[in-house]
Amino acid sequence: MNTTRESSIMMGKEHTLITENFPETFDSPMKLNKKIHQAQHVMKAFKDLIDLCGDNPDRDGLQDTPYRVLKAFLEYTEGYREDPSLYLEKTFDIDHQELVLVKDIEFYSMCEHHFAPFFGVAHVGYIPNLKVTGLSKVARMVEGYARRFQVQERLTTQISEAIEKVLEPKGTMVVIEARHMCMCGRGIKKSRASTTTSSVRGIFADKPDARAEFISLLNK
Ligand SMILES: [Zn+2]
Repeated sequence: MNTTRESSIMMGKEHTLITENFPETFDSPMKLNKKIHQAQHVMKAFKDLIDLCGDNPDRDGLQDTPYRVLKAFLEYTEGYREDPSLYLEKTFDIDHQELVLVKDIEFYSMCEHHFAPFFGVAHVGYIPNLKVTGLSKVARMVEGYARRFQVQERLTTQISEAIEKVLEPKGTMVVIEARHMCMCGRGIKKSRASTTTSSVRGIFADKPDARAEFISLLNK
């Protein structure tokens, strides 16, 4: 394969990847060119990284890796290209004044310090004040905040703040349990360690009883 042909094929792949992920570039050749240029830089950098680590970036198994990594990163960060709180805006006016708890929402996120995955489950509870949203909407919202460069603490807070902002409940409580690959695979190497974070608002912050109910339902 000659170089011109090879580079035009590469250009095609990147072009598709960029326009799929950034639909606004359809209308702006300047934005499109900038993104494609960045994509090419990123792929070159991953090639250098492979080389720096001591392998041959041109060998069979690694040749397409820079492109695959770029593509994967755009998936891990899809949440930047939406406002996850908007999922919650589909609400129902139902007379339910008791705790609504969505348990065990699986999520996958990316530690912003090491670009290593962290993943686990989120438990999201609120006590409605007129507005109740669909259970699947809560899960979509969690995914939207997870698919960014994150730290677990911020992810927890963003989820509770979205619930507070859109549903205006009497209280919100979010608990996240996660395992971090940056803790498992390197450094202190605690492969079974998991991290729990929580965020409480309203009634849950004021009343130990409300927190206790949340916790007892979690353990059921
Ligand atoms: Zn980390």
